[in-house]
Amino acid sequence: METSCLFCDICKSKTDIIFENNQFYARYDRFPVSPKHALVIPKRHVVSFLDLTKEEQCNLLPSIKQTIKIIENTNPQSVYENILHNPINKKMKLFCEKMLSHPGLNKKPDGYNIGVNEGIPAGRTIHHVHIQIIPRYTGDVADFVGGIRHVIPGMGNYR
Ligand SMILES: [Zn+2]
Repeated sequence: METSCLFCDICKSKTDIIFENNQFYARYDRFPVSPKHALVIPKRHVVSFLDLTKEEQCNLLPSIKQTIKIIENTNPQSVYENILHNPINKKMKLFCEKMLSHPGLNKKPDGYNIGVNEGIPAGRTIHHVHIQIIPRYTGDVADFVGGIRHVIPGMGNYR
């Protein structure tokens, strides 16, 4: 029996895809951390980032760059508004509401955190690789030093 996978299903339905090529697609995250938070996802079902094929590895960086180009030139307002019509839980509603009143919504991001939650202890909850493109806006957090080092609370700022 085939087990269902959210990211394989989205790939088939093409719902709200903002970018695609032969091997990857991208869409806006449904629990956005910041406005335009997007995911780049291989079309093939693959659990681990480390199991991407050579061809996928070569295609990944151009796919990330193209996704960034698209998010810099689009506004996800209607995506967030549509989610508010049918959120799957309170967090999804809260996160999307926050994005709609965020000053970054109509702006080009000032920076990005780009990363993968590789493995369950690292925070992976959907077991199909997805590369997080998290736009950053100047002043969005009080202490930005260390960036992704903040995944371990208290260990971000090394100054
Ligand atoms: Zn899958």
